[in-house]
Amino acid sequence: MSAKYPVRVTEIAGVPVAKLATEFGGAPVFVYDAATIRERLESLRGFGTVRFAQKACPNLAILKLLKELGAKVDAVSAGEILRALAVGYEPKDIAYTADIFDDDALELVAGKAFGCVVNVGSSDMIRQLGRALGARAKGFELTLRVNPGFGHGHSEKTNTGGPLSKHGIWLEQIPECVRFAEMFGIRVTGLHMHIGSGSDFAHLSRVCDAMEKIALEVGSQITTISCGGGLPTPYRDGEEYFDVAKYAEIWHNSIARLEAAFGHKVELETEPGRYLVADSGYLVSKIRAIKTQGENLFYLIDAGFAHLARPIMYGSYHPIAIARAPENGEPTSDALQEVVVGGPLCESGDVFTQEEGGIVVKRSLPVADVGDYVILGVAGAYGAAMSSNYNSKFLAPEVLIENGAARLVRKKQSFEHLIANEIF
Ligand SMILES: *Cc1c(COP(=O)(O)O)cnc(C)c1O
Repeated sequence: MSAKYPVRVTEIAGVPVAKLATEFGGAPVFVYDAATIRERLESLRGFGTVRFAQKACPNLAILKLLKELGAKVDAVSAGEILRALAVGYEPKDIAYTADIFDDDALELVAGKAFGCVVNVGSSDMIRQLGRALGARAKGFELTLRVNPGFGHGHSEKTNTGGPLSKHGIWLEQIPECVRFAEMFGIRVTGLHMHIGSGSDFAHLSRVCDAMEKIALEVGSQITTISCGGGLPTPYRDGEEYFDVAKYAEIWHNSIARLEAAFGHKVELETEPGRYLVADSGYLVSKIRAIKTQGENLFYLIDAGFAHLARPIMYGSYHPIAIARAPENGEPTSDALQEVVVGGPLCESGDVFTQEEGGIVVKRSLPVADVGDYVILGVAGAYGAAMSSNYNSKFLAPEVLIENGAARLVRKKQSFEHLIANEIF
């Protein structure tokens, strides 16, 4: 048992778990530690521009924090563009990345968010943008998201390149898209690839080489290269942080060759989501029942996949810790036992200790009592962001800890809010 993910805790970033679980709307509650986000951003200094892929954790307080720390922002929907504008981002610092425009996004990009970077993943987007911009298309700059013909992802559902991926423009169609954009007076000034990195440097070099080749083909109008997101983050003991300096160096070598070929500066961008926020986040829940089914002991908690969907969606592992509830007094035993941790939803898959394919497994956790807290760690990315109202569960409150002080950054959803748009 190493110290990084202990199975017993009393506080998060200096704030007692019991306080977090009671003073901000109750459990379950998402908690973020600002210092961790700052640290992760700092580690990416080797890149020119860091653009936060907000879909990983779009809370306005997190966006504002990252804005103040100097990150730009990526948006994948109209709602995300509006979030970025709401915290004061200027359109030029917002990128819209998608494979389609829906009506809302097209209206924004041609209207209120005019001037944002548009990163297109299909030639139809260029046509629709050209038409929506009309006379203003002249001189408009866009970037192309490239599908290099191969991919990499941490599961089949997250593979983001190759012939079976829906993402990006197939590499052979890039020159055609550049000409097509020019017919509207739009200039292609950047290329983007987001194909999931993993920590496999042979794969990363391959991505880099593919990008360099395509950039040379498009030519000197290219001024920005984005290597996308997908930087891995450790989820369990024994996993190390990814060597971002080495990763940046591979890209800088390519960028230097492109700059030499083009005779001007080329900006390198990275666009992480998970890497910036994953390990800043915790889902704090409460044990509401303890029972045995045959040989198996279950801790049933008040958080389910409506709050944290990664285990049921991908079989993802989250570290789990127990915090003793003060009212339960001293624990009766300091032993560990093998338990299954499940949630409250009326669905058998609502289990946090599961592997890919829905295989239920057990975890060694401290002996606990009803009322004790269960903390799911590394829950800052795709945690609250993927929450749903399934089973009419209220969205959990969110709390940000900065300099030892915890403050509410999203209220617990109310019943009035839950039903606000329903008509009967
Ligand atoms: C999801 C996404 C990211 C972030 O991915 P992470 O794995 O969280 O780093 C970055 N860019 C684009 C275009 C994305 O869709």
